[in-house]
Amino acid sequence: MTRVFSGIKPTGHLTLGNYLGAMRQWAAVDQHRSDALFCVVDLHALTVDHDPARVRRLSRQAATLLLAAGLDPELCTLFVQSHVDEHARLSYVLECVATDGEMRRMIQYREKAARERERGGSVRLSLLTYPVLMAADILAYGADEVPVGDDQAQHVELTRDLAVRFNQRYGGTFVVPRATVPKVAARVMNLQDPTSKMGKSDDSGPGIVYLLDEPEVVRKKVARAVTDSGRDVVYDREGRPGVANLLEVLAACTGGEPGALAGAYGSYGQLKKDTAEAVVEVLRPVRARHRELCADPGFVEGVLRAGAEKARAMARPRVDAAYRAIGL
Ligand code: ADP
Repeated sequence: MTRVFSGIKPTGHLTLGNYLGAMRQWAAVDQHRSDALFCVVDLHALTVDHDPARVRRLSRQAATLLLAAGLDPELCTLFVQSHVDEHARLSYVLECVATDGEMRRMIQYREKAARERERGGSVRLSLLTYPVLMAADILAYGADEVPVGDDQAQHVELTRDLAVRFNQRYGGTFVVPRATVPKVAARVMNLQDPTSKMGKSDDSGPGIVYLLDEPEVVRKKVARAVTDSGRDVVYDREGRPGVANLLEVLAACTGGEPGALAGAYGSYGQLKKDTAEAVVEVLRPVRARHRELCADPGFVEGVLRAGAEKARAMARPRVDAAYRAIGL
């Protein structure tokens, strides 16, 4: 059976982008068709300035929301990265096959490091080595497929390179995985700045719809979405990124095609209204289930404990094999 691995970083409250671009497919498709592991990658949340208590709280919240979004512990393995030592163990070994030049070429590193420096901060070494840890996350489980948004494709490419290099030098140990990018909503954009991704790490803005936003808040945020001075609704990602983003969100929520939906609208106002309602409806059951789960924290804890045990048992033999192969 195909093995799928994917993760979510507890660096902020989860967004509509996380849901439409990832969580929804994990629940509706991936956990049914494959042997799937979903991981709250808390070690990755330490690569930038962080508050320890907040990371812990957000990890728990992310796991709860993943369950609320429909992940079923009977069908998949849901766990927290730091509960399974094999990630860090394997990461070190992979650091011994990766090069510093390879790391410095990563687009996300360059962007995030530049942002840290602009703020006058220093860049943590873990920000540079982050893709190696991500490679370890994937390779430890022998994952065949890694569903990711398009901004993570370069990291999966690096993971493949490291797997091939390790296998060539030290003997066949790792499965070489491939990235799968969702056909819809691969990149939900910020409503206030439709040229940048709706990323939870920004954590502030009126341009980000959070999964736990009240319906009224969702409506307000969508109503204030930046569009442009045009009037007619056309689907043009380059020329009209704001409108295109609304059409894509509406399409992702209702199952239509953004281009075809455009033709049904005579004004931006109606498009925004319908998009807001579609988002509210998509999030309604997730929010309801989240409320139920919050009332039963022992359940979530039990799922994560069992998930970590299962994950550990899957990862350990391959990580042990990598240690032996490299000479330990
Ligand atoms: P973030 O980029 O918000 O920190 P993560 O790295 O935790 O998110 O990503 C978790 C999953 O959610 C990944 O598969 C990622 O590609 C997806 N994702 C995150 N933001 C968006 C977005 N705006 N649009 C589509 N998918 C997204």
